[in-house]
Amino acid sequence: MTAFNGVESAIRQGLSILGSHLTNMRKLAESCEAIAATTKKLQKTAIVADYLKSRTTDEAAVSTVFLSGRPFPAWEETTMQVGGSLLWRVVAGLSGKDESTLTTAYRKHGDLGAVTADVLQERFGQGLRILEVADAFRQIAAARGPAAKTALVRDLLSRATPLEAKYIVKIITGDLRIGVKESLVEEAIAKACGGTLADVQRANMLLGDIGESLRLAVEGKLATAKTRMFHPLGFMLASPIESAEEGLSYFAEAAVEDKYDGIRAQAHLSDGEVRFFSRTRDEITSSFPDLPDALAGLPQDAIFDGEIVAWEYPQNLVQTQEVVDEFFTEAGESRAGKLGRARPFSVLQQRLGRKKVSDKILQEIPVAYLVFDVLYAGGELLIDRPLQERARILYELLATERKVIHHRDALRLRSGQAPAQRNIGTQRKLTFGNEEEISAHSIIRAPIFRAASPEELEELFTAAQARGNEGLMIKDLSSPYTPGKRGKSWLKMKRELATLDVVVTAVEFGHGKRVSVLSDYTFGVWDGDRLVNIGKAYSGLTDAEIAEMTQWFLQHTIEDQGFRRTVEPKIVLEVAFNNMMQSDRHDSGYALRFPRIVRLRPDKSAEDADTIERAREIFEKQNGKA
Ligand code: AMP
Repeated sequence: MTAFNGVESAIRQGLSILGSHLTNMRKLAESCEAIAATTKKLQKTAIVADYLKSRTTDEAAVSTVFLSGRPFPAWEETTMQVGGSLLWRVVAGLSGKDESTLTTAYRKHGDLGAVTADVLQERFGQGLRILEVADAFRQIAAARGPAAKTALVRDLLSRATPLEAKYIVKIITGDLRIGVKESLVEEAIAKACGGTLADVQRANMLLGDIGESLRLAVEGKLATAKTRMFHPLGFMLASPIESAEEGLSYFAEAAVEDKYDGIRAQAHLSDGEVRFFSRTRDEITSSFPDLPDALAGLPQDAIFDGEIVAWEYPQNLVQTQEVVDEFFTEAGESRAGKLGRARPFSVLQQRLGRKKVSDKILQEIPVAYLVFDVLYAGGELLIDRPLQERARILYELLATERKVIHHRDALRLRSGQAPAQRNIGTQRKLTFGNEEEISAHSIIRAPIFRAASPEELEELFTAAQARGNEGLMIKDLSSPYTPGKRGKSWLKMKRELATLDVVVTAVEFGHGKRVSVLSDYTFGVWDGDRLVNIGKAYSGLTDAEIAEMTQWFLQHTIEDQGFRRTVEPKIVLEVAFNNMMQSDRHDSGYALRFPRIVRLRPDKSAEDADTIERAREIFEKQNGKA
């Protein structure tokens, strides 16, 4: 460092100290530096908590938003529309540095905020107050066009100290990179302001506003937080399972639904207005103009969870009411068929990512919203109620005879205008035939099935796949809805990785109604001229096929071991599975995860079955090695 630089730096430090009682964005920036300097979560939380305690409520509220890496609370749709290149140009301009110096700095830090602090070292503003920064962010968001935004960003950064500028840039780019997540800020709020962590989390989940949650914590009013319509809640997630037994091992009573291959969507309905949000919590209503009408007529505000799928409507659609009445009955299967069926995800994809969905696309690729949960209805948040109750409420809501209100009309009515001239019928009266009517039937309660044994679950799985769906979702009927969490209350059973043609080597008697038939098959693949076992599956065969096979196996038993019989290796099966793993359970060295018999292959002789090489190939492909 030259003598001149040393003097300048001393002056700068003096000025910063002088200015410190005026600025408090600096205090936030310094806290961020301290947070970044430790890897210990407890320490990070303590620093945030201490910082929050040292601020006024207004400042602390804004700070929690900034510390979560956002310029605005999560629920707001406001965005600044300030990208990296705009920031880069402003920082270059302010610093007076050339492109190559900036690029070198960027290579060194890998972060635009750190680059800003570095290159602005010789230039500094007086420092900013945190509420001033918050105001400036709003002005930048409101400004139209890059020129206006650039001027405002430049003005803001020119008034900041280098350290403040570092964090302002980081907040604008949406990533502080100091090892703090919103969940840590929630913990700090509980620590600094009182209230339990669970209460803070709940308020923040409902409001989507960490600053507002802090205010409630300060006032001791966390419990009063109310659901905010059109602010998407987190989505409950599912855990994968490896076998049908596992699918029934975590809870006593399971609701089983098809796993539809579409896109997850949370629908909010309030006062006739309907909006859909994706799993990333982005609004996706404009991609599905054909959906809102059918929900808009419901008599209550509500939040639904479901899957939007490309849908093939049947020629003669059964009256919706009649179909819904079969809910929760043994007739789930027939209901599923009457409603139509999902088309592959690749079909839906053709509709996604378009600015405007053309009438042609709307006609060619109609969608349906398969609703499987309700999170809010009739003024009440329902997430803590067991699924059993939510399912009942959902059923009743969708079963109410409702007017098919045109979404646009609902909006018109709210703003005091008359609805457009059009016939508004009720769902019952509609006959299927044109687009308007499709829209009336596009909200479908995802059929629920029951399974009491692994065999029944496998049958449902096969049926779901036969309907073109990905597999099954198995849900604990006594579980609450846990937003944003992946637990064992929702389980997913997915489409197979591949199929193998295998030879049956041993058989066992089944369970339950299959106790007197040979329905559990151990099977192998060829390793040279030897068969090596690779898995075991319950039958996915029909009762008639099992009866026939039982006769055959009884007559072709090599060794009767009581519960188990080794049999002549002649029968070829096609088995599907989700996954393959290395295992010493079978002599092939592999095991199939969740194997299911797709069908008998009487057209194949044992010699035609697959080999261990083919199995290895599938294993390697699955692990990305081939
Ligand atoms: P995955 O994407 O494989 O983790 O599986 C979970 C996803 O399956 C969910 O996020 C939903 O988008 C989708 N899904 C399809 N059908 C259902 C259903 N009946 N219940 C819950 N999720 C479903």
